[in-house]
Amino acid sequence: MTTPPRLDVQNLTRAFGGAPVVDAVSFQVEAGQVACLLGPSGCGKSTTLRIIAGVDIQDSGRILVDGQMICDATTRVPPERRAIGLMFQDFALFPHLPVRENVAFGLPGGFKANGARVADLLDRVHMGRHIDSYPHELSGGEQQRVALARALAPRPRVLLMDEPFSGLDERLRDGIRDETLALLKEEGTAVLLVTHEPHEAMRMADQILLMRRGRIVQQGAPYNLYNAPVDRQAAGFFSDINVLTGRVQGALTDTPFGQFLTPGMPDGAEVDIVIRPQHLKLDFDRAGQGPAPTAENGTAARALVTRARYLGRESLVEFRTDQGGITLHATVPGVFLPPAGTTMWLMLRRDRVFVFPRG
Ligand code: ADP
Ligand code: MG
Repeated sequence: MTTPPRLDVQNLTRAFGGAPVVDAVSFQVEAGQVACLLGPSGCGKSTTLRIIAGVDIQDSGRILVDGQMICDATTRVPPERRAIGLMFQDFALFPHLPVRENVAFGLPGGFKANGARVADLLDRVHMGRHIDSYPHELSGGEQQRVALARALAPRPRVLLMDEPFSGLDERLRDGIRDETLALLKEEGTAVLLVTHEPHEAMRMADQILLMRRGRIVQQGAPYNLYNAPVDRQAAGFFSDINVLTGRVQGALTDTPFGQFLTPGMPDGAEVDIVIRPQHLKLDFDRAGQGPAPTAENGTAARALVTRARYLGRESLVEFRTDQGGITLHATVPGVFLPPAGTTMWLMLRRDRVFVFPRG
């Protein structure tokens, strides 16, 4: 017999005033796995989380934890008996309780009966020396660590986190994300983390659930979402993108970079050819008029630099193609600031290009 998934969400639907906000959402999270529910503000992420937590009720669909029914049309296990932990953006520590009592809050017998577990968790979030402090004596990052310890103290089977890092100083976030991830992995709980930041999902997730207007439009490992997006919007969610548009003629589409194979698309269909800025390669037009350099798997287009900016880790160069006057952006590692008006050749790696029907 195979083990059921830790968290199994099946066909969850929820409408407010007739408008579906969560629309046939299904996914699974295994123990020890971090899944990120990723999508723009208002797409239904928090509503999904609230239903799983039991503070809102679905119109249809079911939720199982370790194969046990938590919530369907007839069963409704109350929130406090779901063994599901919660951590929200405002950490909501109890201001009148010291750190040790905050962390012990969900444990039968409080700190007295659970001193070792509380001390161990606080040590692991590097807050051991603050065990007797009060929340107002702590920085935002420190409060966040205490909140994490509190959420993990009862050993929840599933931990739900709603934008848990968004209240923190930008510079602190990556460090705290990494520490949090390490602790979550040690504890081995299943984690469902809600975020609208692709960077956060890429950094934290084993599995990304990309959500749009109440639906999950793509799910998989970060690598798959970045390198095999389902549509133009999904591609554009993870980075800036360049889009060449064209019309299919005999399974081929003409672009300034030559013809693209667009198999399976009917004649006359409009397509978007999508390239991330780091996948445009640049070469100077040394000979002025020389023949286009041919890159392996690619064809070159001549273009004029219209603007170049230094962004710190990389430079962003804006071009206008000779053919078609299309604006394109390329990123180059380090400092690369050609003056406006410079003519260059742009090449793209065909294996890095996505072709979608016009959306
Ligand atoms: P997200 O967390 O992805 O930003 P939410 O799940 O909070 O999105 O909200 C999704 C949509 O549902 C929003 O348009 C929001 O206004 C609406 N919504 C959420 N809760 C309620 C509610 N209790 N009553 C009416 N509309 C709601
Ligand atoms: Mg939300």
